[in-house]
Amino acid sequence: MSSARATSARDLTRNQHLVLGTLEKAESPLSAYSILDQLREEGLRAPLQVYRALDKLLEMGLAHRLESLNAFVACAHPHCHKSGLIAFAICESCGQVSEFSDDVVRQRLDDWAAREGFVTKRTTMEIRGACRACASAA
Ligand SMILES: [Zn+2]
Ligand SMILES: [Zn+2]
Repeated sequence: MSSARATSARDLTRNQHLVLGTLEKAESPLSAYSILDQLREEGLRAPLQVYRALDKLLEMGLAHRLESLNAFVACAHPHCHKSGLIAFAICESCGQVSEFSDDVVRQRLDDWAAREGFVTKRTTMEIRGACRACASAA
């Protein structure tokens, strides 16, 4: 498993760049189809173009997939993904997503994997609930 990212944002193709730009501007996670909708004017026509670009962005750690929403976000911390644990807090009221990682949680999961002989490829945690603003407005 290579930990160093060989490629950087400068090496992106035009489509990858457009998709990443769309995710970075978005207030909340986007599905592949809403990304496509926003990029039709840029000449993207096929879902496959978006999926290919997303695959590459995910591989490079510049974007993440939120499994429970089947949607994508730009990485909030593109340069600190050594930890191998990515956690998201998803507000169910306003749709805001906060990305964070936690060394204690990661250590516990690493310990478990070592005990079980499990080879971890990727760990994504999703916490669903209400953000501070929404919780205090309720
Ligand atoms: Zn990230
Ligand atoms: Zn909220």
